Amino acid sequence: MLDDDAPDGPKPRAAASPRPATCGSPGCTATVPPQLGSERFCLLHFTLSVEQRCAEMRRRIVSGTASEAYFAEVRSYATAQSLTLARAATSDLHLTDQMKKRVLSTFLTLMNQREYLDEVSHTVAAEEIRPRRARA
Ligand SMILES: [Zn+2]
Repeated sequence: MLDDDAPDGPKPRAAASPRPATCGSPGCTATVPPQLGSERFCLLHFTLSVEQRCAEMRRRIVSGTASEAYFAEVRSYATAQSLTLARAATSDLHLTDQMKKRVLSTFLTLMNQREYLDEVSHTVAAEEIRPRRARA
């Protein structure tokens, strides 16, 4: 007999195992892997959000309004998201080949972001040392 089981109805909270959170992207019912708990996204939507954020950051850098502090913010963002992505992708999630491609594509985006940032930083630094001549 299974009389040891609690009767039907709400169980005490302490006894219930925490339910995995559902992805925060509208319409997505996938669960959030523990490695992405603080991001509140499933792996797919995490990669999409990283790529979207990278595109936004790049647009701001291209616009020429980004400060050195913003560059530092972008650098630490790229590092942090790379680590989070690596932890999730190498966990026991058993990703499909398509998902593995998606993860690699996001890594590429993050690596290119860093590279681009370094190029722009060097250009900005060079211009600060040797200002461009006034036009006309
Ligand atoms: Zn999702």
